[in-house]
Amino acid sequence: MKITSDKIFNFSSGPSSLPKETMKQAQAEFMNWNNLGISIMEINHRNNLFLQVAEEAEQLLRDLLNIPDTYKVLFSQGGARTQFSAVPLNLLGKRKKKATYIDTGYWSRSALEEAKKYCEIDCFKARIKKDNKIAIIFADEWNIDQESAYVHFCPNETVDGIEINDLPLTDKPIIADMSSTILSRGIDISKYGIIYAGAQKNIGPSGICISIVRDDLLDSASSLLPSTLNYRILAENKSIFNTPPTFSWYLSGLVFKWLKKLGGLKVIEKYNRKKAAILYDCIDKSMLYKNTIHVSNRSLMNVPFQLVRPELNIRFLQQAKLAGLLELKGHRSVGGMRASIYNAMPIEGVQALIAFMEKFEQENY
Ligand SMILES: *Cc1c(COP(=O)(O)O)cnc(C)c1O
Repeated sequence: MKITSDKIFNFSSGPSSLPKETMKQAQAEFMNWNNLGISIMEINHRNNLFLQVAEEAEQLLRDLLNIPDTYKVLFSQGGARTQFSAVPLNLLGKRKKKATYIDTGYWSRSALEEAKKYCEIDCFKARIKKDNKIAIIFADEWNIDQESAYVHFCPNETVDGIEINDLPLTDKPIIADMSSTILSRGIDISKYGIIYAGAQKNIGPSGICISIVRDDLLDSASSLLPSTLNYRILAENKSIFNTPPTFSWYLSGLVFKWLKKLGGLKVIEKYNRKKAAILYDCIDKSMLYKNTIHVSNRSLMNVPFQLVRPELNIRFLQQAKLAGLLELKGHRSVGGMRASIYNAMPIEGVQALIAFMEKFEQENY
């Protein structure tokens, strides 16, 4: 099958599109970084040259997110899923043995299932039906067990296309899996205990995970916690306790630089809101496509939609591909389609998708 479009847009949920500019720079200096005649990938992780790259990336992230000095920024391997274990193991060593998990969809449930190995779970199911759509109970109504050491939730459910925009009223540390929403807008870091995010959606290539950890949460680790995941050990070693994924770290730094140059998170938020608005508008106007999430919880990053005639799914995907619109198939647990429109997706990509969807509807419905 031949792609006829000269422009390709990749709607993959992750690993996902990276800003073209950053990839061009990485390509240009791939074999000869900093005029050293070798690649960044070939430099020792304790070499000052790499340490500078690492520190610069951290500083850029701190600037972008306005991270207070009372938080550590940690870089680790194992992705977000490893943090599903690292969080309870880091927080439940010395304190309570119970934690509250807010169940809102695929990823929050996965985190909960993993945490069950280490602690007693107080699960609050927050999904409801509102106006015949899927919605999330307001966070100030979440029931949180007094015995819980922390509250875990997922502000953007990547698979379900659900976003949560409020925070619970609680004195317990709030732990957020922000894998698919970090850097899509500004947030008030000081409201959280820990934020973690796998890189491969809005940060950079896969292989690295970022955790932003409040200082008072560094010292409650279980003795069974692997040192490579121990927040205190990572913090004391500037995340270079063992060999970090140096290339992913470097490329993430280039993405942060790109974001800063664009104007930072206020600018990207406005852009992201516009992209999502025109796509949801297209879905809502159509007879063929539907989105089942309540407007108050629709994700800006992941837009799932179903065809009311599912027998057209395969044709839709085939023709979309021919038009240069890739990776639109929805997650197997939800079905239908999903367009992931992270920071690196230009509005031209969303416009091309909308034009295709309208044409497909005219021709097939
Ligand atoms: C992608 C994703 C994960 C899984 O990340 P890995 O890096 O593959 O472990 C976890 N949580 C959310 C919200 C995600 O979007």
